[in-house]
Amino acid sequence: MKSETRVAVIGGGVVGASVLYHLTKAGWKDVLLIERAELTSGSTWHAAGGMHTVNGDPNVAKLQQYTIELYKEIEQISGQSCGVHITGGLMLAGTRERLDWLKMAKARGRYLGMDLEIISVDEAARLFPLLDKKHFKGAMYDPIEGHVDPYGVTHAYAKSAQLGGAEIVRHTRVTDLKARSDGSWDVITDHGNVHAEYVVNAAGLWAREVGRMVGIELPILAMEHQYLITGDMPELKGKKEQLHCIDFEGELYLRQERGGMLLGTYEKAGVPWSPTETPWDFGQDLLANDLERIAPSLEVAFKHFPALGDAGIRKVVNGPFTFAPDGNPLVGPVKGLKNFWVACGVMAGFSQGGGVGLALSRWLIDGDPGADIWAMDVARYGDWATLAYTNAKVRENYSRRFSIRFPNEELQAARPLRTTPIYERLQAANAVFGDYCGLEHSLWFAPTAQSAKDEFSFHRSNDFPHIAAECDAVKNSVGLLEISNYGKFEIKGSGAADWLSHVMANRVPAVGRIALTPMLNERGKLIGDFTMCRIAPEHFLLIGTYAAETYYQRWFERHPAGPGVSIRPCAMEYVGLSIAGPNSRALLQGLVRDDLSTAAFPFLSFKRMEIGTVPGYVGRVSFTGELGFEIWVTTDYQRALYDLLVSAGRKYDLRPFGGRALNCMRVEKSFGTWAREYRPIYGPFEAGLGRFVDFRKEKFIGRASATKERDAGALRLLTFKLETKDSDALGDEPIWHDGKVVGWVTSGAFGHRVGHSLALGYVPAAIAGATSGFEIEIIGERHQAQPLSEAAYDAKGSRMRT
Ligand SMILES: Cc1cc2nc3c(=O)[nH]c(=O)nc-3n(C[C@H](O)[C@H](O)[C@H](O)COP(=O)(O)OP(=O)(O)OC[C@H]3O[C@@H](n4cnc5c(N)ncnc54)[C@H](O)[C@@H]3O)c2cc1C
Repeated sequence: MKSETRVAVIGGGVVGASVLYHLTKAGWKDVLLIERAELTSGSTWHAAGGMHTVNGDPNVAKLQQYTIELYKEIEQISGQSCGVHITGGLMLAGTRERLDWLKMAKARGRYLGMDLEIISVDEAARLFPLLDKKHFKGAMYDPIEGHVDPYGVTHAYAKSAQLGGAEIVRHTRVTDLKARSDGSWDVITDHGNVHAEYVVNAAGLWAREVGRMVGIELPILAMEHQYLITGDMPELKGKKEQLHCIDFEGELYLRQERGGMLLGTYEKAGVPWSPTETPWDFGQDLLANDLERIAPSLEVAFKHFPALGDAGIRKVVNGPFTFAPDGNPLVGPVKGLKNFWVACGVMAGFSQGGGVGLALSRWLIDGDPGADIWAMDVARYGDWATLAYTNAKVRENYSRRFSIRFPNEELQAARPLRTTPIYERLQAANAVFGDYCGLEHSLWFAPTAQSAKDEFSFHRSNDFPHIAAECDAVKNSVGLLEISNYGKFEIKGSGAADWLSHVMANRVPAVGRIALTPMLNERGKLIGDFTMCRIAPEHFLLIGTYAAETYYQRWFERHPAGPGVSIRPCAMEYVGLSIAGPNSRALLQGLVRDDLSTAAFPFLSFKRMEIGTVPGYVGRVSFTGELGFEIWVTTDYQRALYDLLVSAGRKYDLRPFGGRALNCMRVEKSFGTWAREYRPIYGPFEAGLGRFVDFRKEKFIGRASATKERDAGALRLLTFKLETKDSDALGDEPIWHDGKVVGWVTSGAFGHRVGHSLALGYVPAAIAGATSGFEIEIIGERHQAQPLSEAAYDAKGSRMRT
């Protein structure tokens, strides 16, 4: 083994091998892969090798497409067969809801260029004769599905990487990692040490343990997973290879394996493997079979596919593989650790391994993953994702692997975990809660405790009339919303304003004022949107998306402020309440000594005030489009503040409202939000945030690219008025224009104040000016969509500025 390397990749499973290959492909040849045993000695060797392009996140789906297309390339370079069988695949729907879900998946596939087709049960039975038609309602056909040979794929990546200059050492275990002061690493192994500029943790089943070597607890857990292979079946003799098949309601997947079928299950009673510590002596081993655990799934399988019942079992495989709490990979540089990267938690290595390697290599070499990989970014988890949280969430995710998640369905594992001081008060007001970064927040309020429950649906549901009433209260009097679930940073010090001016695109506000600002990367793409509040000349409160707190911190580490500046995340130190509506000023004025008139406290003002007995910061901002105030207090005061506002609000029929009503109102105002309208694939002008980019500043990150984008941005964010009956767009639906798919929806909602359905979405700039010809496809039906030239509600913004 060499003693110096630019990158040390730890782990020779399919993911580590792909990372190594992609680094060499991008031109980095001085790279080393260290494998404790033989290649594939983690979860890779016993995988079923299935692959498909469909994924709930379109950006991950694109990387899955890339992975499948890559197999030809690495076969050609390496001369090693990947054993690719493209059989085509069927996703079977056993219920009407599942068929709706498939229609939505097909629609999403349209703008990804995927050739998916909804077919009848008869057609499904013709393509996959083993199924019993009476259990199914329809299916989706995907021509690009199949399976590969896990050994072949891993070795094809590895050989291609070696031909590109990489070194691979086997039977060498990394036992420790020591950081040097320049950010490089001493990689300690049982066969000597190597000094590496960068380390990539691709240690699969041991990624958690490798993380612990550098003091982090990665949110991953291995689950036992079983599949069985039947004896030879006469039904398959002399026939073309059977399609890949997923039976969602049966929670089963099937494919042909020689003369029999391979049948895998994601059973409800899934069992974690090595929940706290993965044994280092686990090699190419299998776990003991537990057919009893999957007996309920097998019973369904024999009903849905009767011939399987007579085929007998030739072999059972039980092996562990890892998951993150949401089932998506963990990829990228780790906050707080220089030059330490992860590529782990990859539960579908043969669909995703190539995409993970591509994104990581680009990110490491060019400073940007080259695609929107927010759904896989390791920074989406914060400290709240503890070992026990991960355990509960991964078990839930495993048991729901093939379940439908309805848009209004909140998952229940590991809840309630984090609550604010007013949680019980909101509960008493019949709040229906959602979970965001482990924190409970109210979604809507029901009239009684018994009715405080969502009825899951793709259509409008039982919350609809109550959200309407909440929006009505905000429009006509005043509503109260908890806003604690925002990320916050306190920035202090003599260079604070200069640093903010450098990292943010908008102008730093004057003392007592607020500026809304995008944050851009060097490519001029949106990597954050903030409310920047100036408390004193050298003291700021920065408010942004809580889920992106770690993501922001990582960016701030890359662009450090001078020694005189402190940047402190303080999300849970300041909790908040917002009041919104025409009576919000009168309500608050009764509690504060400061003059709240527009003359004295205009829109975008920010000031420390005493609200009754409670000290806090009051900002005059509005995400609802109505006159409104946001009040931030330290946690110990939140209950007192809530009680004061509720008591003073009786006079105005103050009504609590939740996140869903807020979503309806911000869509009416065409206000975007992070991870929906604002993502690192869009520029500020494309996203309609151009007015918050201050080109009078000579320097800020992304300025040069934003200048180009101003004149030549390829996309435009539009607001559409929709004609629908009982459903609204949810996000990710295709936008059609003149019979062609041209764009995608980012958010949708019913606008209760305007009385119709609305959607926000991106279309090519070249057709953004068209006034007709648009349609949006919702649950398989195309609806006329009228582009609006301005926000649907109070476009001039006079209500929030009065
Ligand atoms: C029964 C079963 C069926 C599956 N079916 C499918 C399927 O059909 N399709 C699909 O896409 N996926 C499937 N999977 C999942 C798939 O196996 C994983 O997605 C994939 O193997 C993950 O690869 P990896 O490289 O991240 O991890 P691993 O395969 O676990 O590789 C990690 C490697 O790192 C090495 N290593 C760890 N620590 C160190 C260290 N300290 N020093 C040196 N080396 C180290 C290990 O020896 C190992 O070789 C299945 C898994 C199982 C268990």
